Amino acid sequence: MAGTETLEACFERITVNDENEEQYSSQTTAYHKSKGSLSTGMTLTSLSASTTTSTARLKLPLQKLPNTNTIKTANATVTKVTLPSQAAQHLRTEPRSSDDALALQQATHRSDPPLYTQPTLPKQFSLGMFEIGKPLGKGKFGRVYLARERSTGFVCALKVLHKSELAAGKVEKQVRREIEIQSNLAHPNILRLFAHFHDAKRIFLVLEFAGKGELYKHLRKAGRFDEGRAAGYIAQMAKALRYLHGKHVMHRDIKPENILVGLMGEIKISDFGWSVHAPNKRRNTMCGTLDYLPPEMIKPGSSENFYNEKVDLWSLGVLTYEFLVGEAPFEDTPVMTQRKIARGEFSVPGFVSPEAKDLIKRLLVLDPEKRISLDDVQKHPWIVKHCIKGERATMRESGGK
Ligand code: ATP
Ligand code: MG
Repeated sequence: MAGTETLEACFERITVNDENEEQYSSQTTAYHKSKGSLSTGMTLTSLSASTTTSTARLKLPLQKLPNTNTIKTANATVTKVTLPSQAAQHLRTEPRSSDDALALQQATHRSDPPLYTQPTLPKQFSLGMFEIGKPLGKGKFGRVYLARERSTGFVCALKVLHKSELAAGKVEKQVRREIEIQSNLAHPNILRLFAHFHDAKRIFLVLEFAGKGELYKHLRKAGRFDEGRAAGYIAQMAKALRYLHGKHVMHRDIKPENILVGLMGEIKISDFGWSVHAPNKRRNTMCGTLDYLPPEMIKPGSSENFYNEKVDLWSLGVLTYEFLVGEAPFEDTPVMTQRKIARGEFSVPGFVSPEAKDLIKRLLVLDPEKRISLDDVQKHPWIVKHCIKGERATMRESGGK
């Protein structure tokens, strides 16, 4: 995978086949001819304005496009990415609707042998290679759509970021880091970033599709999770964080808003915009909620403000608390939240079991070095007690079969 410099260099040079741009149509006559025969025929621009039910389902092309890999453009320099073998396993499965698309996605979670194994060849992606479906959501900088790679039928989420907006928000560096880090991660509880490509105006991220959406919404709907479900989620979080920390990556922005849920009810950590390789020294420039920030990141006097991946353990404690209580432990006015975090002041309501309370107390420890390790989180009595049952409960609650 590309290192930072290569990646940054790529950003400067890259132009990508873009069906929405005028100059492209003159270079890709063959492609544009076949485009007319598609039932979708939708552009991202039209999609972004449309939320009608007609776009709410993924449509099938009436006619298969010629393999767009073979399309030549005059001066196309496209990012070379490797099509994940997971994506290549479904050449014979053509989903007929978004329900089928979901079933297809579901199939990727089973351990069945692949229907077809394609050698992992470098794949040059462009927008025209995707069929775009319903909008999945909108973030500060991007819109996300359900999409399907035409040649394989692989269902994914396509995140579209406008370069001008990234520049205005001064987050280009953050996005580069997000891409660099996330594309090197492969874990069942971490949202996969399969590929990325660009055109003059936009950056496209080809993401794993998380069929059940945001965990935050599930939590708000439930009010709070029962202990089995919460323990199941925390066990998965611990596994994912172990994997991340093993790669010396700290996430730094663990919270329910940044966790998605897969079709089987499994959680997927997403949003690596704040993640970095540990150890790191940074100033307090973080925006958004203070609730999940650990004490070592909110302390003033930032010149000694070193911290390491133990920041994620604190956030895991806040997450455990919020799952079980329905609100974060330090929720208050910003000044008071900051004060409470710095002092490690919180109280656990009586309805929380003693085991869960014990785990929260071992995670929300002011001294980062004294926080319970991820290894010990996995062995903690609360996790052990609920884990199998908890994972089952997790699946049941979120409708997984
Ligand atoms: P922010 O810009 O603050 O990070 P965000 O994380 O919500 O906001 P995006 O990552 O752009 O922004 O995602 C927008 C919304 O789209 C998400 O909140 C989620 O509901 C949906 N979404 C994003 N990625 C996926 C995905 N891979 N699968 C399913 N839904 C997704
Ligand atoms: Mg986000």
